[in-house]
Amino acid sequence: MRNPLPNHQAHAKDVCIIGAGISGLRAAHILSDPSLGFNVTILEARDRPGGRVYQTADLGLPVDLGATWIHGTEGNPIAALAKKIGCSTVSCGAVYSICDASGNWLDRQVARQRYEEVWDILEKAMEHSMSHRESIPDNAKMMDFFCDELESKSKSQPDPDSYISLMRQIGEMWGAFMGDDWQRQSLKNVWLEAGLEGDNLFMASTYKGILDFLLETTRDKCTLRLNCEVTSIISHSPDVVQVDSTDGFSAVFGQVIVTTPLGWLKRNHDAFYPPLPPKISNAIQSLGYGNLDKVFIKFPQPFWNDKIGQPSMDDQYANTAAEPAFPIESLFLQPEYSQNTNPAKWRTEIISYSGLPDQYAQPIIMFFVYGQWGRHVTGLVRGTKPDSEEYRRILYDLFHPYFSKLPNYDPASANCQPSDFLLTDWQNDKFAGHGSFTNEPVGSGDCSQYSDALRKGMGEERKIWFAGEHTSPPGGVGTVAGAYWSGEEAARKVASSHGLRPSSST
Ligand SMILES: Cc1cc2nc3c(=O)[nH]c(=O)nc-3n(C[C@H](O)[C@H](O)[C@H](O)COP(=O)(O)OP(=O)(O)OC[C@H]3O[C@@H](n4cnc5c(N)ncnc54)[C@H](O)[C@@H]3O)c2cc1C
Repeated sequence: MRNPLPNHQAHAKDVCIIGAGISGLRAAHILSDPSLGFNVTILEARDRPGGRVYQTADLGLPVDLGATWIHGTEGNPIAALAKKIGCSTVSCGAVYSICDASGNWLDRQVARQRYEEVWDILEKAMEHSMSHRESIPDNAKMMDFFCDELESKSKSQPDPDSYISLMRQIGEMWGAFMGDDWQRQSLKNVWLEAGLEGDNLFMASTYKGILDFLLETTRDKCTLRLNCEVTSIISHSPDVVQVDSTDGFSAVFGQVIVTTPLGWLKRNHDAFYPPLPPKISNAIQSLGYGNLDKVFIKFPQPFWNDKIGQPSMDDQYANTAAEPAFPIESLFLQPEYSQNTNPAKWRTEIISYSGLPDQYAQPIIMFFVYGQWGRHVTGLVRGTKPDSEEYRRILYDLFHPYFSKLPNYDPASANCQPSDFLLTDWQNDKFAGHGSFTNEPVGSGDCSQYSDALRKGMGEERKIWFAGEHTSPPGGVGTVAGAYWSGEEAARKVASSHGLRPSSST
């Protein structure tokens, strides 16, 4: 412990926000309203704001390396913001492009129907979880509920075994939403994942518009300190918190909002002194943290996407005028055809950037990797230089089995040879908490209590609040909307502890 006991009166309205991701920026936006009279300082460890909202233009036009979807539009503040500031979004409904285990594309109608049936079961699981959450045992898996439902549904099918096998493989996509293998996800808590109603929107113009808007609303109204990695958060008394960072910054504040990711909190509980109370440290340790990563592969031409209105190969790829020839989102089920590089038959799914509106379209296929598959892929590549032959060769070998299944693939054509690869490694990013976002693993207990405990924070006792997607109310955990809500809530609590109420239009 450093410094003598500071005068808490002098610092009462000095607020420190640790982390300049969406939650931190939203909190700063509210608290930096001059009429409230707070002095707001944001301390950010990276050399940029945005956290897990981040873009690169290394492959051509900007792409999102972190968040890229708006999950549900009803009551979603991010959907409203995107509309207000004119972000370009693409509505993605049911997936109807599914490559089966043997590498053949399912008939689109069958694919769509099965995909929708899978969602019906997932929604049933959420409803069941909601209404029976108290009695559902801790070790119950969402996957087992899904498979039991399949058993009974399959009875009316002409070939129950292949129906079960197909549906189960599609159902595994739940893992991508959780950033972890679906067999690790809890039934007791799956109700927390019931998202908002309305479309799933893909941010064609990327999340940059949202980030820029939030930055603009705080510009000149608060201090944003970059390259400032906070290492300790010390409560000298119930009213004064000292914050120290690796760049030598040390200051005392009347209130602190900690928005560092759950994965960071898991590894840095000793940053807090006195130690975190058991309720909070238990919440941090019990919630799960996923590992979703993205692999972008660029080609000279989008060979898989014939011109709109000109169906390629066969009827299977026929399109309507409103849709690209090859859809934006497709699934690859457990592959039997990539024994050398994927003997465990981990599934994957892709986004085709060539299907975006013209000004955002690019000849890029992006693969989602997560869970064991994600660890395997990033583990193989880590340590190699992105511009090296080895990096390219590893990613080529891993993903060739899939992109070679795209329509029109011709191994002799230069247009079918990748020109660039890019792999994210959130799992190796300490400021992202070595992962992607929060989930609810089997055996974790009642996760709603953990989020409640984190949302309550230690504001009353120690003037330390938590925000971030992991503290979101149900429906927002793991999302940008949840991060935004959580920043808003923490800011309102800080204001209200001074008897202030931020303007409702902020
Ligand atoms: C690959 C991927 C895909 C995703 N896809 C989607 C999606 O499509 N839709 C969606 O809604 N959500 C998605 N998410 C989740 C979404 O990005 C997050 O929920 C959201 O951005 C979290 O915001 P946050 O403010 O809670 O945390 P963060 O954005 O992580 O912000 C926390 C900040 O704290 C900083 N920090 C960390 N440690 C320190 C320290 N010691 N000192 C100072 N600062 C520190 C970090 O650098 C960071 O800027 C995705 C995430 C990933 C990784």
